Amino acid sequence: MSTPSSSRSGADRCPGLLTPFVSADGAMVRLRIPGGRTNASTVAAVSSLAKDLGDPDITLTSRGSLQLRGLPQPLPRELITAIGDLDLVPSGAHDKARNIVADPAPGLDDLVAELDAGLLADPGLAGLPGRFLLAVAEPDGPVLAQPWDIAIVDERRPEARGTGPHDPRGRLEGRGTARVLVDGHSVVVDRADAPRAALDVARRFLAVRPDERTWNVRDLPASEDADGATAAQGASRADLLPGGTPFAVAPGEPPAPGPVGDDLVALVPLGLLTPAMALSLDEVGGVLRRPSSPGGPVSRLRPEGPSHLDHRVVVTPWRSIVLPGGAEYADDLAAAGLVTTPDSPWSVLTACAGAPSCNRTTTPTRRIAQEAAPFVDVDGPPVHVIGCDRACGHPAREHAISLNPSCAADVVAAQRS
Ligand code: SF4
Repeated sequence: MSTPSSSRSGADRCPGLLTPFVSADGAMVRLRIPGGRTNASTVAAVSSLAKDLGDPDITLTSRGSLQLRGLPQPLPRELITAIGDLDLVPSGAHDKARNIVADPAPGLDDLVAELDAGLLADPGLAGLPGRFLLAVAEPDGPVLAQPWDIAIVDERRPEARGTGPHDPRGRLEGRGTARVLVDGHSVVVDRADAPRAALDVARRFLAVRPDERTWNVRDLPASEDADGATAAQGASRADLLPGGTPFAVAPGEPPAPGPVGDDLVALVPLGLLTPAMALSLDEVGGVLRRPSSPGGPVSRLRPEGPSHLDHRVVVTPWRSIVLPGGAEYADDLAAAGLVTTPDSPWSVLTACAGAPSCNRTTTPTRRIAQEAAPFVDVDGPPVHVIGCDRACGHPAREHAISLNPSCAADVVAAQRS
């Protein structure tokens, strides 16, 4: 991960580091968090900024990043300074290129950090399109279902990777091999070389893409067409990975909300992290961080308030937050609105931003999804509510679509169809 580069304020270090999008309900800023690796106090600090300056709810995206919405335009200097001081935008030039999704296992932390550091170290890689996606995964990792362009798969045995998000063994054994994947092909490299090999592929992509609207590897010609003929002219996807041999991925299911050993997967309904949820995460993180803490319900310690000590959390591409060691605090986090059991409608119900946030629709997708939540089948297929065929934020796994529903019943019917 990045480290602060000087004692100057965020705004002085990186003037213009935040590029807002302007939507119907104000400016929107996307904060990229490579691999979703951050800490509870940073999430709480971002939430506090959102509450003070714009829409109080932070949006978790399908890339594991955070969005602040409803902000004034131009952006307040206070916001730019605070985001810079949190070191969330260590290089303004590279910001749009820092799209790294990863499975939450701690044994992948070093690969994520080295991939991000290598990307930031190369000025040329700042030219990667904002839609270009890098993934770091376990062999059967659910993140492999995301629409990645280049993936690194850690091939060490499970004990060496760490068996859960909180298992420290994953950080102890760095040696082994990893697989670099591009378009159904892979090469095996020393694990330590995998970030460099992946970024070499990214450089080749930039070198061969015919124009700036070629955003992804899948936009390049396939190596062979359906009849087995080789690509007629220009570079093909296979040229990006010399020596690559066919390799099929088998993504697992995203982690369900609830305890996983000592850890907790907390789902954020509709991806909207409220100030109460962020505060609760920070309080629990603060309790877990205290080495001498006797444990016990967080409410017993609440009079002390949040500790503001860093406690690692992982923001996932599945609108959840993994809190290492958080299993015993599931009830406290549920009281704040997070989903901590698998039998919730929010495990199968998602929605795009919709109206009034998006001016491409008049359908209030999130409100209708909230009305539909008591009636959807929690054991049924996922259903995604959208206001137009862009289908923003759709789940990577197979799902039903509810396009422009007029009421909750339309969503329920779409799930059953
Ligand atoms: S799917 Fe359409 S309506 Fe929904 S947020 Fe995306 S562009 Fe807007």
